[in-house]
Amino acid sequence: MSNSNLSIDRITKTYGDMTALHPLSVEIPHGSYVVLLGPSGSGKTTLLSILGGFVPPTSGSIMVAGQDITQMPPARRRTTTVFQDYALFPNMNVTANVRFGLDARKVPAAEATKRVDRVLRLVGLHGYGERSIAALSGGQRQRVALARALAVEPQILLLDEPLGALDLQLRRQMQDELKRIQTQSGRTFIHVTHDQEEALALADTVAVMNHGRMEDFGPPERLYSRPASRFCATFLGESNLVEGALRKVSTDRVQIDTPFGPLLATGQGSEGTHTTACIRPERLRIATSGAETLQNLRVIETVFQGTFVRVRVANERGDQLLAKLPPEQAPALQEVVSLSYDPLHASLIPA
Ligand code: ADP
Ligand code: MG
Repeated sequence: MSNSNLSIDRITKTYGDMTALHPLSVEIPHGSYVVLLGPSGSGKTTLLSILGGFVPPTSGSIMVAGQDITQMPPARRRTTTVFQDYALFPNMNVTANVRFGLDARKVPAAEATKRVDRVLRLVGLHGYGERSIAALSGGQRQRVALARALAVEPQILLLDEPLGALDLQLRRQMQDELKRIQTQSGRTFIHVTHDQEEALALADTVAVMNHGRMEDFGPPERLYSRPASRFCATFLGESNLVEGALRKVSTDRVQIDTPFGPLLATGQGSEGTHTTACIRPERLRIATSGAETLQNLRVIETVFQGTFVRVRVANERGDQLLAKLPPEQAPALQEVVSLSYDPLHASLIPA
């Protein structure tokens, strides 16, 4: 076993009769960049706080490298938390802030000086040691908070909406930095956000949280192409969810009788059941050949978005589909079109 694999085993959290976390089990390999993605109130902070030791779980256990740390106080864990408001000491300079945890842990002075220097370089703040916190920009404060957390050399860094206080441009820039720092440090990062773009930019593994449940866990490419639930299909990117009765075609291919006509989809399910397939809007194209098509669709809205055109179409009943088409394929309003798709990109949502 590698040195800090994290295993979460049937963790739950209830507050009175309110369930913040339903039984949740997951294995996180050392060196992962995991993003906990979900809407407000889905249980992200609760899970992170349980990992950090700030909130006791109602049941279940947390193991790091095979050791049960469920009852261990935060200071003794090999985790460090970066809070959304950074929680820096405003009356101390940058070095004193970064050094704080090292002195508290009785790291020898020479070693502490070396570490502070190293982490300040890592976060791009070399030479800023004497600056006061008040004199720093939001992005610089964020880096100080990160440096302070990394200085204690935690095996697992817990970040709760760490970029939430930054404006959009700085946020995108800090995402690249965070990813670089995580790769260079080789530590496990567990990062909470409700921003799906941030999740895709950073994660090698995304955990989608909804109503206290982890609805999906895996590489972003897989979560995007084969979402585990209707919620995941709509929270991570846009989706067309098409429903109907399932007919088996082969082991891994089904036909669904949808309001748009028969749809070939990839996945497994039982004959006759009501089912849902997900097709991403950018996977639909204006049909030009005899490929799989959805026919007789009237264009009811087109919006030019630069690199693509958002096109909304509807069948005679008014059921709608969204397509993101290359600008040169954009149809005219009220035109009746057929849309083609590849059954590989029409993914059955597991029942
Ligand atoms: P998120 O971070 O995803 O926004 P939280 O983990 O903070 O969600 O909260 C999950 C749910 O648990 C919410 O419904 C919240 O109101 C509830 N909750 C969190 N902390 C407490 C608490 N100390 N007492 C009661 N309910 C709480
Ligand atoms: Mg939260």
